[in-house]
Amino acid sequence: MPDWTERLTETENDNLDEHLHDDQCEECWVTALFRTVAALRALVEEKDKSLDALHREAHGDCHGQVPCPVRAALALTEDEMKERLEEK
Ligand SMILES: [Zn+2]
Ligand SMILES: [Zn+2]
Repeated sequence: MPDWTERLTETENDNLDEHLHDDQCEECWVTALFRTVAALRALVEEKDKSLDALHREAHGDCHGQVPCPVRAALALTEDEMKERLEEK
């Protein structure tokens, strides 16, 4: 399995494994969609990394009592973000 599959969930990886039944499937559109899901997660990770670096510059080590909106945003999980989207 190539590295990008590390960003897929267990279920997604199982579905991908089931799909990769022949060599042609390495480049087919279904595999491309799985790769897109992995790429989107990589983009979110990249955004978090950059937000984390900017946050350190702006807030230093702000682990005090005051609720920090940036740390709250960084702590959001994918499931929590999905829930927020469903509420809209
Ligand atoms: Zn295929
Ligand atoms: Zn902060």
